[in-house]
Amino acid sequence: MTDSLHVAVIGAGISGLLTARELVRENQRVTVFEKSDQIGGTWVYNHRVEVDGCLQLVPNRSVVHSSLYSSLRTNLPRPLMGFSDFSFEDKSYGDPRMFPGHEEVLKFLQDFANEFGVSEVIRFNSEVVRVDSRDGGFVVEWRTMEVGSAEEVFDAVVVCNGHHTEPRVANDVPGIEEWSRKQLHSHNYRIPEPYQDQVVVVIGSGPSANDISREIATTAKEVHLSSRSSNIKVSKLDGHGNIWQHTKIKRVFNDGTVVFHNGDSIVADNILHCTGYKFHFPFLGTNNMVHVDDNRVGPLYKHVFLPQLAPRLAFIGLTYNQGVHFQMFELQAKWVALALSRKILLPSRKEMLADVYKHYQEMDENGIPKRYTHSLSFQFEYVDWLAAQVGLRVDDRLKKIAKCLFEHWMSRPNDYRDVFVL
Ligand code: FAD
Repeated sequence: MTDSLHVAVIGAGISGLLTARELVRENQRVTVFEKSDQIGGTWVYNHRVEVDGCLQLVPNRSVVHSSLYSSLRTNLPRPLMGFSDFSFEDKSYGDPRMFPGHEEVLKFLQDFANEFGVSEVIRFNSEVVRVDSRDGGFVVEWRTMEVGSAEEVFDAVVVCNGHHTEPRVANDVPGIEEWSRKQLHSHNYRIPEPYQDQVVVVIGSGPSANDISREIATTAKEVHLSSRSSNIKVSKLDGHGNIWQHTKIKRVFNDGTVVFHNGDSIVADNILHCTGYKFHFPFLGTNNMVHVDDNRVGPLYKHVFLPQLAPRLAFIGLTYNQGVHFQMFELQAKWVALALSRKILLPSRKEMLADVYKHYQEMDENGIPKRYTHSLSFQFEYVDWLAAQVGLRVDDRLKKIAKCLFEHWMSRPNDYRDVFVL
């Protein structure tokens, strides 16, 4: 125990819970800082919203962490949302559907935390406000309502603060800054009733745009989807009397007119930005070593380690679009825990940096924008590579399920959850 490290984990969502479990298994001394009063992160539904009807992101606003809407069902089936030794598939907490509601996921995570005793190392209501590297360690400053702020020195820090809270807005739409009607980011969408009889433009083509546009259409007069994708079909959506698909927006005007690139125009009451989120680490002051540039967090070796401070500063949960998220986070957590215990040796700093820049160069050569640096597009090379590092294998069945799901998403966007069978 004398050689054990004092490790700070920031956040008690899935990434933080998994990281804490793996570090405890390695006999490290772990403190998880969680700014809210419970575990679960994104999966703790909050009916509160930050702003109502505008997109003024006031820096000192009271931040609501979760972006869940009330009706949200998972967009992955149960087998893809379990862990290697704690399955979601064979458990039910009241909602046995293959794609359950968000409450079911939160109960599963609470069950996980209880099963592995993780809650014991969590300091709730403790928000980390500063992390500085100093003398081979880290000074972590955190705040609580009762005590105010305090600091403590740690040997290592694992950042697990999530990346679905800070809205990324389509502010490159010409005229959007003068738009005087309502607009909102999906982070602040909860229920469809406020859109009764309105004409709504939904910008985006991801899972949230897909779900929310269909839900809003149950109360709104018209819903107009706008996508920047080049291969969309401009038309009324099959099976929906009041949803239209359009191209990218060309310009919006103060009188409510929205003109699309294909020449269509409509007059809208509301613009809803389902345009994703920004990676945001307001507490990191590690001598400018980590940069966030257009959603590229870097330089990070395999999306996890900052080469200059590896393995003592690590990030879990940045990667997405993988199909097997929860197991991917689990593998990242195991990799970090084993690297901190020196059971796995990382390449040299120079080699890690070379690997990062090779990745960036490949993205450039393939014309992939920087903002997709951590998007893995249903390819399994990364999870297979991670698994090999920690001596595990990702079950081929899960990969097959993920591929099959992806096909369903593309071909049956309206009802993939209801027609998907294992
Ligand atoms: P989070 O769940 O965001 O947890 C981060 C934690 O860190 C929070 O508890 C927060 O309070 C805490 N924290 C943040 N900053 C600080 C600080 N400074 N100090 C202390 N604590 C801090 N994934 C799926 O696999 N399936 C799905 O169906 C799915 N649906 C989704 C739907 C929506 C609308 C969204 C937004 C995401 C969805 N996801 C889904 C992705 C989801 O984000 C991940 O499943 C998962 O919740 C990420 O976990 P995390 O622990 O990395 O982050």
